[in-house]
Formats: sequence, structure tokens, C-alpha cells
Amino acid sequence: MNLHTIDTGFFKLDGGAMFGVVPRTMWEKLNPPDENNLCTWAMRSLLIEDGSRLVLVDTGMGNKQDAKFRSHFHPHGEATLEKSLQQLGYTTADITDVFLTHLHFDHAGGAITRTPDDKLVLTFPNATYWSNQAHWDWAVQPNPREKASFLKENILPIQESGHLQFVDPVAGVPNALPQLREIIFANGHTEQMMAPLMQYKGRTVAFMADLLPSAAHVPLPYVMSYDMRPLVTMREKEDVLARAAAENWVLMLQHDPTHECCTVQATDRGIRVAETFRLADL
Ligand SMILES: [Zn+2]
Repeated sequence: MNLHTIDTGFFKLDGGAMFGVVPRTMWEKLNPPDENNLCTWAMRSLLIEDGSRLVLVDTGMGNKQDAKFRSHFHPHGEATLEKSLQQLGYTTADITDVFLTHLHFDHAGGAITRTPDDKLVLTFPNATYWSNQAHWDWAVQPNPREKASFLKENILPIQESGHLQFVDPVAGVPNALPQLREIIFANGHTEQMMAPLMQYKGRTVAFMADLLPSAAHVPLPYVMSYDMRPLVTMREKEDVLARAAAENWVLMLQHDPTHECCTVQATDRGIRVAETFRLADL
């Protein structure tokens, strides 16, 4: 089994919203904002290559949003989902499974493509798309605070295609996805977000999704204002980081603009970043 980073480009989000209660004087050193207080963030996906199976974890935001949307989120950078797959010798038709950590637009937007004649179709026509029932129900009837992150055009066509399957949180990893060792279900960021764990090169690799968007978010109070239940996030982050420090996990950081991965260690100030590196250098 091989793991590959799939870069899908960058976007911008308000620094204050991304760092919650942490004052700008502290976070601006970690991710310097532009003149509009916006910081740059990556949208990094993961490709699990295992014999004839190609499992893509998250899809970036895709390219079907209009100019107004783009003026809010400033998607930029050379990389796209398609180009990054091409560099590994694959096309979107080769993907057998799309594992969606959650259905926010910067994670699931690339799952659906708008055709020139304005139809919404699966970007990965041969893939099974994985979500879970509780998150799906939450996303299709969004609360007013989270509504701007759940775009119907990214979500409903998946179900209409007949390619949607749900992970059962009680059973855990589905038999169809033996590449995953465990799935961590987290309820702080949104309802039942899924962070998959893999065993790779003798290490545990955790795709952290929005439980740990960047290395700057390792200290416990660094919780996004976007989170629905910030106190739950703090507890979930504390638990996962304790396991990660004890077992020297590789944490894959989906939104960190510079660091793909990090390890963490216990210090007398709490859990802190130990090392940062690229997945390919593992
Ligand atoms: Zn999210």
C-alpha cells in the first residue's frame, strides 16, 4: 500500500475565524494575513494506492463555483485535483472510492463537476462515495450557522447517482475499505466528521481533517470559530493528540499552507509539534 499527497490548490479564510479565541498578535506570526485579514490555507487530499484499489480521501473545493464565491475564498495555486492525479499516472475514472471526511465545500466540492451543459455529475464516475448517515442528515438540513459550508450542489448529486454508501460508526471501518485501520469520529467541528487512520511504513498515519487543520492548531485553545461545538473539539483534540504523542503518529495536515505532516510530543506546556515533513519523505 502507498500513500500520496494530492494537492488541490490553496484558498483564503479569515485569520480570526480560523484561530477562534486566540488574538491576532499571536496567530499572525504563525500564518501571516494579507491586508484583508485573510490567511492562505491548503486543500490537501490523500490518495491510498493499494493494488487495484484507489481510495481518495477528500476532494478540495473543485472548480464549479461562481465568481462571487471565488471572490470570497480566493482559490489559487498551480495544483488541481486532476493534475495531481495525472502526475501519479491516474485519471478521475481510476478512483474506486472517495472517502469524504465531511461535506464542507473545501473538502467535498471536488466530488461533483458541472458539465458545459450545466449538469452536475460525479467527478469520479466509477467510485463509491463514503459518508455516514448522521453527517449526511446534518448536511442536507443544515443549521443556519453552518449553512454556508454545505452547498447542495456538492452533496445531493452524490445520492442521486446511487454511488453513496454510509460508514456505520458502530461497526467502524467498512469491510470494503481494508486500507483503513480505524476511523475517528469527531463531533466538535461538525456532526460525525471522520478522520481515517492508516498503517504505513511501520507508522500510524492519521488524516486529521478539520480536527487539526494546521500545525499552528496543535495547542489546545487554537480551535476554529467555524466549529459547532468548540469545547467538544478541545476534548477530542486532547484525546487524539495524546495518542499521537504516545505512539509517534504521523499527522497529515489538510489545510497547513507549508507543512504536509507533523509529529507531536508531550512538553511541560502540553502537547506541541515535534517535527514537520512531507509525506513523501517518510
Ligand atoms: Zn470543515
